Amino acid sequence: MDWQALLAQLRGWAAELGFSQIGVSGIELGNAEAGLLEWLDAGFHGSMAYMQAHGVKRARPAELVPGTLSVITARMDYLPRETPAGWQAIEWQRLEDPARAQVSVYARGRDYHKVLRTRLQRLADKLAEAIGPFGHRVFTDSAPVLEVELATRSGIGWRGKHTLALHREGGSMFFLGEIFVDLALPSTEAVSAHCGQCTACIDVCPTQAIVAPHRVDARRCISYLTIEHDGEIPVELRPAIGNRVYGCDDCQLACPWNKFAQPARLADFDARPELEEGDLLRFWQWDEAEFLRRLEGSAMRRIGLRRWRRNLAVVSGNALRRRADPALLRVLHEALNEALNDADPLVAEHIEWAIAQAPSISG
Ligand code: SF4
Ligand code: SF4
Repeated sequence: MDWQALLAQLRGWAAELGFSQIGVSGIELGNAEAGLLEWLDAGFHGSMAYMQAHGVKRARPAELVPGTLSVITARMDYLPRETPAGWQAIEWQRLEDPARAQVSVYARGRDYHKVLRTRLQRLADKLAEAIGPFGHRVFTDSAPVLEVELATRSGIGWRGKHTLALHREGGSMFFLGEIFVDLALPSTEAVSAHCGQCTACIDVCPTQAIVAPHRVDARRCISYLTIEHDGEIPVELRPAIGNRVYGCDDCQLACPWNKFAQPARLADFDARPELEEGDLLRFWQWDEAEFLRRLEGSAMRRIGLRRWRRNLAVVSGNALRRRADPALLRVLHEALNEALNDADPLVAEHIEWAIAQAPSISG
């Protein structure tokens, strides 16, 4: 097998499927194991018990999928195709608007899990057509896999101080996917890191979740708190959440390399207008059925109405505290009081906190 020719072919198929980069990593992730254990020991994974459950298996691909000899890594850019130049400035401005509930850029389109998995599988099928059947399994954003580690080892990028992979020609606005294969493929070369003395992501983080370069305390991270975390959002962190209702992009918005972020090749990641618009009051109008209907095919559906309303309450409390537009505040106050009627204890506590941010506004 002429591997270089095959790799070129693989890259061609990958490009047709919407991927912008392909690499190959070995499975010896020994160094990463110690870092992973330290992170877990420090409790930085918060309530993500599944992170701990998989333990060191995560750093040992051959234990996760027996027979694995190499991992094909893939990058898929997700900035919506119509993203204008200078999009970061628009996003920063949106974060200042108390009438908005801001959804992270990656979540405004179709659920990426399905898009990536299907296309990784097609890529594996193409390879099988060319070389014959082989054992494999595809992953994307999967807890047991050390995705960034595999990506950085195979040259998809380097690990930024915010812990995400980033690339000089692609920034960090991309998803990662992997195909674990039982083929011994030569690894592609890692790229050198270019964070230098920059600390923009660390400095900008609203909750100081990046506790040291390359180390995020998930318990403080807004992405984790609004998406993964199922319980109460710590009261002391609520003000810093601002209007971020689902995820947080700040460390990526601040990263100078994201001026090179590429738009998606696929229409799947085009933003749904109402998720981009982020109308806080309209979001409060969604009941269970509406929540499920509006978020059909979106990754956001996974958090369920309860976490969604918990997050809306935090965003609303922050809007009330800012006392920006009196008309907005009055309607928001009404929406909160109405939502309180059928709220379960968790959501009720967050709504009561929100109302207490501006108790003088009458409903
Ligand atoms: S996603 Fe937001 S909260 Fe989390 S580390 Fe980045 S800037 Fe901080
Ligand atoms: S903001 Fe600066 S330190 Fe953070 S990932 Fe980007 S280049 Fe690296």
